[in-house]
Amino acid sequence: MCDDDAPELDWGFATRAQRTGHQRTAEEEHCEPIFTTSSFVFASAAEAAARFSGESSGNIYSRFTNPTVRAFEERLAVLEGGAACVATASGMAAILATCMGLLVAGDHILSSRSLFGSTTMLFDKYLTRFGIQTTYVGLTDLDAWAAAIRPETRLLFLETPSNPLTEMAAIAPLAELAHAHGCLLAVDNCFCTPALQRPLALGADLVIHSATKYLDGQGRCVGGAVVGDATRVGDDVFGVVRTAGPSLSPFNAWIFLKGLETLELRMQAHSRAALALAQWLDAHPAVERVHFPGLAGHPQHHLVGEGAQQRAGGGIVTFAVSGGREAAWRVIDATRLCSITANLGDTKTTITHPASTTHGRLSPEARAAAGIGDGLIRVAVGLECVEDIQTDLARGLRG
Ligand SMILES: *Cc1c(COP(=O)(O)O)cnc(C)c1O
Repeated sequence: MCDDDAPELDWGFATRAQRTGHQRTAEEEHCEPIFTTSSFVFASAAEAAARFSGESSGNIYSRFTNPTVRAFEERLAVLEGGAACVATASGMAAILATCMGLLVAGDHILSSRSLFGSTTMLFDKYLTRFGIQTTYVGLTDLDAWAAAIRPETRLLFLETPSNPLTEMAAIAPLAELAHAHGCLLAVDNCFCTPALQRPLALGADLVIHSATKYLDGQGRCVGGAVVGDATRVGDDVFGVVRTAGPSLSPFNAWIFLKGLETLELRMQAHSRAALALAQWLDAHPAVERVHFPGLAGHPQHHLVGEGAQQRAGGGIVTFAVSGGREAAWRVIDATRLCSITANLGDTKTTITHPASTTHGRLSPEARAAAGIGDGLIRVAVGLECVEDIQTDLARGLRG
């Protein structure tokens, strides 16, 4: 939670990423400390009572607030341009806490069909038990979004760019549509981070993060966050987290806090390397099609660039090889450098076969409808030398 009049709001992104959030203690430490304590001590019984009643502010218990977690929340809030941020134990906990904090039984969620698998599962298998229904539309089809809004729709939910095909939604018109119908727009900003895209400035009400990915950036721990205004996020979502308990641990918060310091540099480097790899793949005779927002041929390329919705292409490149699953697995199994893992947002390049892993639970028909063919390969481009990544992929592409 950060103060609207804070001088840090005049600072540029990179300065905010180094200098916000931390309040130096009496020890005059330079680096942000990790407060590994479950509870906090009061000077008197009267002070304890005042803290519990909310009459005086201050830490009580680390499920509610913790100074290291607060430092991460304040820094991320400033970077996304939100008044409040609540950190959570995972990205999924951030989505759950958002839904629990802002929706009631009878409400309807209208969501993009191209979603992280666990998000779809949360909406369809679990939220339905509590009377919250979700229907899905194509991410890029604004008319379909408009036509699918119901009187009971309360939340519009999307990820842009989508996984794994990197389709992009224009955020501003969707925010306008949501507000015209009294709905909120939530954007899962995991693939871009605020270094490349700031949905709140484009009219979105809520930004969701899996901090596990680029905010950490080195594949070390699991966490999440919700950013938005002081009432919905600062009160409503925070209330769920402090009561239900999917709170972020101070150690993980410290990892993410330090990750934010190099976020802009890393996202620029990931984007540069991904563009080079995408261009190389695009010219490779064994590659049928490359999906990357930074390529001029990408259908929503106009949304990418300085001053556009998304500053650069990001780090995810997906490509299709001819020969289906056998050919795709051959490319993946021939790698010696890339890590075969479904995680992304790491300094180490990761490679995935979506049709048999992240999207393996979909029926073949649903996969085909989503455009996720058996020959598709997703690469989350890391910070190794891009020539070495090319050599690693070339081995299987030759075959
Ligand atoms: C990983 C991911 C999530 C879930 O985050 P966890 O930290 O794994 O709970 C949500 N959305 C997107 C787009 C993701 O990639």
